[in-house]
Amino acid sequence: MKTFPMFLTMTDRRVVIVGGGEQATQKCRLILKTEAHIDILAETLDVELQSLAQAGRISWHKGPIGPARFAGAALVFVATGCPGMDACLHMLAKASGAVVNVVDQPDLCDAITPSIVDRDPVIVAIGTEGTAPVLGRQIKTRIEEMLEPKLGDLAALAGRLRGFAADRLGPRARRDLWAWVFGNLRAQHAQTGDAAVARIIKTAIASGGAPAAAPAPVALVGAGPGSSDLITLRGVKRLQEADIIFYDRLVDPQVLELARRDAERVYVGKAPGCHSWPQDKINAVLVSAARRGQRVVRLKCGDPGVFARGTEEAEALQAAGLDYEIVPGVTAASGAAAAVGGFLTERGKTDTLVLTTGRLADDGDTPDWVQHITNRSNVAVYMGVRAAGRIVETLRKAGLAQRIHVTVVVNAQRPDQQVLHCLATALEATLAEAGVDAPAILFLQHNHDIALPQPVDITTVTRMAV
Ligand code: SAH
Repeated sequence: MKTFPMFLTMTDRRVVIVGGGEQATQKCRLILKTEAHIDILAETLDVELQSLAQAGRISWHKGPIGPARFAGAALVFVATGCPGMDACLHMLAKASGAVVNVVDQPDLCDAITPSIVDRDPVIVAIGTEGTAPVLGRQIKTRIEEMLEPKLGDLAALAGRLRGFAADRLGPRARRDLWAWVFGNLRAQHAQTGDAAVARIIKTAIASGGAPAAAPAPVALVGAGPGSSDLITLRGVKRLQEADIIFYDRLVDPQVLELARRDAERVYVGKAPGCHSWPQDKINAVLVSAARRGQRVVRLKCGDPGVFARGTEEAEALQAAGLDYEIVPGVTAASGAAAAVGGFLTERGKTDTLVLTTGRLADDGDTPDWVQHITNRSNVAVYMGVRAAGRIVETLRKAGLAQRIHVTVVVNAQRPDQQVLHCLATALEATLAEAGVDAPAILFLQHNHDIALPQPVDITTVTRMAV
């Protein structure tokens, strides 16, 4: 950052504006929103400034300008409209140690005015350091739409009731109260205004806090495959509500950044082959956190319903009499297909999509995906890198190894994404050569360049696989 955003205290401060024309008037309108006292230094004043001076809202000083005029000012705006004059006045103001903004001359500015969304006392300042004013305006428009005009009144009302709440409620109850106020009462406040909503909040505080909501279900949230913008809005909402987040190895650290700053983050990852956090232990910590009354998020990579052992956690919660909620996520196969510009199904070409795993089930059986291979199927294999040998062997036994084209998408939707293509027969060599040791999806599809008896007879394939 070349600039650092700060909110300056303006109460009982003085802002000096040099100039009496349109540019100076614009700055004056801005500063009039604050509690600062405004001194205008100019020989002549624009009509708007004249009437402000007559009404006593600003002080007008004519005559020679020396450094003393700027002493102790919170801010100085130089806006005479004449670049040469502005440069001299800048030097003069700097000599008195003031923070100076020279209109339209970024090189002479100690501070630049941001775009402002004003819902006083809620103020959003947007800056692009002069790189992209159009983007700044677009962001401002979006935020203007998000924040209803009366939001500032509601924030001010909350400010007036903070002391009352602090006297009667503990920290957790206070947080719940304000979450309820800003989560549930904004629409009502926008319609009815302060008085009705103040009554509701005061009654809630007097009776111990926000109306008791049913305890929040434990949220099993899908974080998506990689980049943090592939989580759903509902997932982000749950993260922001959470007191504690149990997260997996493959969850992108930036997704965790979306959570509340003071939420507890607990890593419960399992590296392949070494189960440092056995599933039973994960189930137990979820249950005990929820029983303590904490709002719990179990954050899993991809979708929590796809090879994520969600069932075991959901059953453990249910057995403990606790509710759970599944918040879906973008599964790795979707992320991987999109990352290579491909589609998981294609009308008339790929009409069967299989999501399967390269890991053996607990009884040692290989998942029987091979029976689903047809010339119009797409088989996405999760956890397939270490199992590549067995996958190829299964295909070989089914007489398919020569005909299957494999697309390997490693670290899909992450900066280090890698894509490999090969025939199934060359899969192990290809993975070894590329040194793949990261999560990957293997897409197995018929190689349509190779002439095949079409369609593949599923019963024959099954027989061959046996
Ligand atoms: N619940 C997850 C899957 C977890 S199993 C989901 O819906 O995506 C872990 C496997 O997911 C990894 O071994 C790998 O096969 C796959 N995977 C997860 N993230 C991935 C990524 N960014 N790129 C490729 N594969 C990924």
